[in-house]
Amino acid sequence: MTGIQQGSTPSTNLSYVSPAPDSPWGTYLAQLDRVLPYMGDLARWSGTLSRPKRVLIVDVPVQLDNGEIVHFEGYRVQHSLSRGPGKGGIRYHPAVTLEEVMALSAWMTVKNAAVNLPFGGAKGGIRLDPRRLSAKELERVTRRYTSEIGLIIGPQRDIPAPDVNTNAQVMAWMMDTYSVNVGATTTGVVTGKPVSLGGSLGRVKATGRGVYVTGREAMRRLKIPTEGARIALQGFGNVGANAAELFAREGCKIVAVQDHGGGVYNAQGLDVRALTEHVAAHGTVAGFSGGERLESEEFWDVEAEVLIPAALEGQITEARARRLRARLVLEAANGPTVPAADDILAARGVTVLPDVICNAGGVIVSYFEWVQDFSSFFWSESEINMRLDQIITGALKHIWATAERHAISLRTGAFVVACTRVLEARNERGLYP
Ligand code: GLU
Repeated sequence: MTGIQQGSTPSTNLSYVSPAPDSPWGTYLAQLDRVLPYMGDLARWSGTLSRPKRVLIVDVPVQLDNGEIVHFEGYRVQHSLSRGPGKGGIRYHPAVTLEEVMALSAWMTVKNAAVNLPFGGAKGGIRLDPRRLSAKELERVTRRYTSEIGLIIGPQRDIPAPDVNTNAQVMAWMMDTYSVNVGATTTGVVTGKPVSLGGSLGRVKATGRGVYVTGREAMRRLKIPTEGARIALQGFGNVGANAAELFAREGCKIVAVQDHGGGVYNAQGLDVRALTEHVAAHGTVAGFSGGERLESEEFWDVEAEVLIPAALEGQITEARARRLRARLVLEAANGPTVPAADDILAARGVTVLPDVICNAGGVIVSYFEWVQDFSSFFWSESEINMRLDQIITGALKHIWATAERHAISLRTGAFVVACTRVLEARNERGLYP
């Protein structure tokens, strides 16, 4: 059995990364270790899950507006292609590493299988700070990167999408670059495109909507009334802001929001629309006049029924897991909870709705977009939202029942459902040659 044991170093025997236990890849391996006892004979295929199928590292040379030539490091990792083409977003962030992208790609494999989409798992990223590049520079970076990973992406091979700091405009540049290189407009090579270029209605808000729908279901099961429920939210990007809007509409109170620039608190509930306008103007929630300033570690002491991490990995550490006051954690971010924190939350009776189901709304509507592009027939927004709701609530029900049946956490339950599907596919396909 590969993966890490509690307290030891991960042992995937990969020569190209050596992650610490709480790093994203170390976290993923620990999560995997917990599911293997439930895999029966399929466990013999577990090496399929504990290493990526394919890793591409690319140099992205770009001329800046001042004439200088700089080089960025980019990645595309295809963790698994057992159940279909690779699928997963592209992240632009100064902290992106190969090891992080590997973990994100593996979580995509699990997520896509957990909600039963016909995809494997993949992820990409470039280590850069997009705030320090002009729009023209970002376009050149995006186009060169797309051209470099053009070797392995394609509508039947691997389909990128937005993630942290990428959006519909970046997807339009990617689609155009790929199309120019292959000599045919190929809308299905990326999802999350502008609606005018084969994008899907409802895609921008889909991840936030999925967080809301799964959160609403979890609150119902835990008997937390939505009316007046207090929510503390970390991250106010596309996912956090859209989830906040939907929860607020249902009568929840968003009492605290923290982002990279600072935090704000209002016991009566923050005005989400006004906060969104403030963030559009200032790039951060800090300085918002509709609440008090919240110091960074104070965020974890906020009294709220629900905590939504919607930023980056590794935010819920052991120490924070002991402090936080919520009954329910909705993982809108990928990989926000380290394994030791998972155990502490379980012991404290805090329910964690894991990322692989909680934030699957985005990739579900990406799947709809990909299907619509292939058929060149586009659906209405209400049809998309209805189908999203159906798929995500159905998957959540199945995962909840699996977790109850084995008396395991929802995360391990989701991994049991997903890894069984991936390893069954792997087993049925067999080994070549
Ligand atoms: N980046 C999103 C995620 O982490 C969406 C991926 C996609 O739509 O392919 O799930």
